[in-house]
Amino acid sequence: MDCIFCKIINKEIPSTIVYEDESVIAFKDLNPVAPVHILVVPKKHISALREVQEEDITLLGKVLYTCKEIAKSLPECDGGYRVINNCGDNAGQTVKHIHFHIIGGKNMPNLI
Ligand code: 5GP
Ligand code: ZN
Repeated sequence: MDCIFCKIINKEIPSTIVYEDESVIAFKDLNPVAPVHILVVPKKHISALREVQEEDITLLGKVLYTCKEIAKSLPECDGGYRVINNCGDNAGQTVKHIHFHIIGGKNMPNLI
């Protein structure tokens, strides 16, 4: 499958991995928008949030919990952080493998 994040998961292309276990991987975003910009990704290829199935509920809970654990380990996130999922073209999703951005280390205006 021609998926850049599957290639990162399979170590076919390099990335700066900050966390990995049997079902989840987290690595630094190539083009960070903040001092902390980490992508948290389930190893199972799911193209977007709208494709998540009931069988994925535990996995998605684990991904979100991993976001929290990673942020907790980073002093830059002590003052707060944002977890973002872009779903679909209108939301600006560019990589069609579900992922959650952890953004932190700066003050961010509210989006909504
Ligand atoms: P999206 O716009 O789909 O929510 O976010 C995709 C993110 O993946 C972008 O922030 C982009 O910088 C990042 N990205 C794209 N290709 C690569 C890559 O090859 N390696 C890493 N580490 N990040 C990537
Ligand atoms: Zn993939």
